[in-house]
Amino acid sequence: MTSSDRVFAAAGSMEPLDTRPATLRAAADDFGHLVHGPPLGVLRPGSAAGIRDALVHAGRHGIPVAARAGGHSLYGQGQAPGGIVLDLAGLAAVGPVTGDRVEVQAGALWRDVLAATLPHGLAPPVLTDYLGAGVGGVLSAGGLGGASHRHGLVADSVLELEVVTGAGEHLVCAPDRHGSLFHAVLAGLGQVAVVVRATLRLSPAPALVRRYCLYYPDLEGYLADQRLLAADRRFDHLEGQVRPAPDGWAYMVEAVAGHRGPTPPDDGPLLDGLAFGSAESEDLGYAEFADRVATDEELLRSTGEWLHPHPWLNLLLPDDTAASVVTAVLGDPGFRDLRENGLVLLYPLLGRTLRAPLFRRPPGEVVHLLALLRTAAPGTAGPMVAANRRAYEFARARGAVAYPVNALPMSPADWRAHYGSRWKTLAGAKAVHDPHGVLGRGHGMWAPA
Ligand SMILES: Cc1cc2nc3c(=O)[nH]c(=O)nc-3n(C[C@H](O)[C@H](O)[C@H](O)COP(=O)(O)OP(=O)(O)OC[C@H]3O[C@@H](n4cnc5c(N)ncnc54)[C@H](O)[C@@H]3O)c2cc1C
Repeated sequence: MTSSDRVFAAAGSMEPLDTRPATLRAAADDFGHLVHGPPLGVLRPGSAAGIRDALVHAGRHGIPVAARAGGHSLYGQGQAPGGIVLDLAGLAAVGPVTGDRVEVQAGALWRDVLAATLPHGLAPPVLTDYLGAGVGGVLSAGGLGGASHRHGLVADSVLELEVVTGAGEHLVCAPDRHGSLFHAVLAGLGQVAVVVRATLRLSPAPALVRRYCLYYPDLEGYLADQRLLAADRRFDHLEGQVRPAPDGWAYMVEAVAGHRGPTPPDDGPLLDGLAFGSAESEDLGYAEFADRVATDEELLRSTGEWLHPHPWLNLLLPDDTAASVVTAVLGDPGFRDLRENGLVLLYPLLGRTLRAPLFRRPPGEVVHLLALLRTAAPGTAGPMVAANRRAYEFARARGAVAYPVNALPMSPADWRAHYGSRWKTLAGAKAVHDPHGVLGRGHGMWAPA
């Protein structure tokens, strides 16, 4: 028996610790494929009690713990070097759907959530672009998607949470019940508790969608229409991309209107007053549209690129500096490869819809998500991570804030600056609910004790 086994065999009820080399290798990897911190072992709790036992023992022995849902962290955020990874794949039940809500366990994937709600004509009000991520992982980040300009974060649709805190307390929390814990968990980067189950509010789902791609030659015209579309909410889904053009960059609004058929939406009012140069549209089933990245995943798995490093950077830009930051970052030679091998998202969010208190964003009514999504050939990612850091500092000096699902080294001082006036709230919740500091160390938020 190893020392880790001894620690975790101390309680009779403890789940067996998996220390097989292949298991440790898998737990020391994530979608970023950039950081590799092997844990002592992996536990697969089958209940909240299993999570509680693990956290109580980890706290007693000062062992780091990371929860893992879908495993799509970018830079080791879901790893626990020298500690315990809680693989929640066994806690992935979805349902029942009751009225306009659904209960989901934290290890479920969003794809499974949607599959359970669509037969009821319902869906979460906001979904991220990728449905292969886990419930626990997205709620801990916040979750942004094309419906965010209308409905905020994925986490903003949570009505109730069942959690186990770092102190080993098994609690149910909601805005009016252990409210400060509830608000410290949502978009709280897994710092205070492990989510076991969430109750989500649902909205009516369309059966079909019409997807418009509106093309712009210039950034100013693109941003002006994006502001207009975010404010008047004429589309259900609003995103956009920056795409390479022969003489620089071009811009594409992706705007989607849902309907129940058989009559598609009227293009006239939807496109009225917009200044795009050209447009295309297509009609799709809603389920196909919602899970559109699955097709990309299949392709990228077949080429092997899905398993290459992903030095991604997500920034939230204030409206008044968005154009200058986008121009400067895309002009940085450190991001030149984006033209060949990457995807750049740029789309607006409305500040007032983003409600989870620990979700940080620049001030102002309109903010823009800039997502620089790159794939690196093996062995070439180091300079790209350095470029991420450079872009972060440049953008931060112009009022931007990281959306922290990034391959971006951040120091405790960066995190303090990130949280600003909310740092005290987070640090207070951490002291109460994770007094031994065992949770969420992969973010590098706290100086080592
Ligand atoms: C292809 C792709 C597309 C994406 N598109 C979007 C997008 O459109 N919008 C967006 O907002 N994000 C997007 N993301 C980012 C993604 O939402 C985050 O990386 C998310 O955190 C991944 O969750 P996961 O469960 O898959 O990852 P994991 O690595 O399992 O978890 C991520 C983090 O959450 C913590 N965590 C996991 N489970 C729990 C739990 N039960 N309780 C507490 N903490 C927990 C982990 O410890 C880790 O720190 C995308 C990612 C990929 C790979």
